[in-house]
Amino acid sequence: MVGRIATIDNGRLTLPPLRVAFLSEHASPLALRGGTDAGGQNVYVDEVARGLGGRGHRVDIFTRRDGAELPEIVALAPGVRVVHLAAGPPSPLPKDELWPLMPAFSDAFRAFARRDGARYDLSHGNFWMSGWVATELRRDLGIPVAQIFHATGKTKRRHQGQADTSPDGRIGIEEAIVRDADRLIAQCPAERDELIGDYAADPARVATIPSAVNTRLFHPTDRAEARRRLGLDPHAPIVVYVGRMLPRKDVRNVVRAVALLAKQTDLPVQLLLVGGETTEPDPVATPEIGEVRRLAAELGIADQVICTGRRQPGELHWYYGAGDVAVTTPWYEPFGLTPLEAMACGRPVVGSAVGGLTYTIADGVTGFLVPPRDPAALAARLHLLLADPALRERMGGAARDRIAREFTWDTVVERTAALYGELLAGRERRASASAG
Ligand code: UDP
Repeated sequence: MVGRIATIDNGRLTLPPLRVAFLSEHASPLALRGGTDAGGQNVYVDEVARGLGGRGHRVDIFTRRDGAELPEIVALAPGVRVVHLAAGPPSPLPKDELWPLMPAFSDAFRAFARRDGARYDLSHGNFWMSGWVATELRRDLGIPVAQIFHATGKTKRRHQGQADTSPDGRIGIEEAIVRDADRLIAQCPAERDELIGDYAADPARVATIPSAVNTRLFHPTDRAEARRRLGLDPHAPIVVYVGRMLPRKDVRNVVRAVALLAKQTDLPVQLLLVGGETTEPDPVATPEIGEVRRLAAELGIADQVICTGRRQPGELHWYYGAGDVAVTTPWYEPFGLTPLEAMACGRPVVGSAVGGLTYTIADGVTGFLVPPRDPAALAARLHLLLADPALRERMGGAARDRIAREFTWDTVVERTAALYGELLAGRERRASASAG
């Protein structure tokens, strides 16, 4: 970038092309989706970086090299590169084991930037570990920071207790990032409250920018056609869950609700579960699939539960489209992209009343909110929808409209670029004030 960073003329922000370092240590846009450590953050990094590239900015996405065969640089889209940084062994590692590798990740970033001659206008940290790297770079190289956490340690600890495998220092690091970053991005009002309430963030530095859904990938399909393609029963009521198969997503709660429906009604409900480490459902690679199957067998509904394994984004509209209702009842959810995807496919969603879901699902309009860990409440809402095609149709239509109005990546990118501009203009104002 040449000359002044950003100017505000008559209240309008003018932003020259920027060079942005997107830091995302474990979540690469190139990773296959649906496994333990490849979900919403990968989608966010992919969509926002591409969108910024499409607006003339130059974005480098820095992620850990987790395969020996990966080239250092991969061109992702016009103006957007993925840069694989060597930090630790070039093989997959669980994200909770990456923290000790972050100094090496930071050094590899500096070495790359020197070699490449890249001068970044700002960095965009994703998740706490990259946030730490971003604030180090801010301190040492003066690169300002916009930070998005995607999930926070305090909420995780609250809900997972002893099962939380995050490194011990996580929360302290997050507190330091909240103090040091120039701007924080919250994905929904609940996350904003959490940053301010739990982490004492300065409200003036927290921008709420909800994430979105790619409607070229996620759009309505004909239900009968979707079921034919997937070899599913053309007549059975189908409840669909798409997402990572982890205890905190509480798919077991959905299995319990379907078991209740089987007992209380004569609806031959099927539960379609999409997600896992492999494309075939493998309880060894994905222990949660084993747990879900065991529970289904115990409750006498084994033949009503279909696990598919993971699928890639381009195929998912068929899975959402095959369902009558989509469901997601996590214990907690920082944002949650899958309900938006189901809504874009014209399906009502029943979700737990936690985190981002309380913002994205309009209760009683695009689906229903239910308390987490409450199979009876979920069963009641599912029953209501499955028994009433007109209600499903109405809510599915309202869901699609809501997406088109409020949840497009184009808007996210525009607001993110505006946030960068404000951040840089503010620094420029401060610099000229102190020079004058
Ligand atoms: N996903 C996928 N294939 C699968 C399962 C999930 O592509 O088999 C995607 C899903 O479509 C969504 C993301 O992974 O875009 C999950 O994001 P979400 O925000 O719902 O949850 P997170 O993974 O961030 O906890």
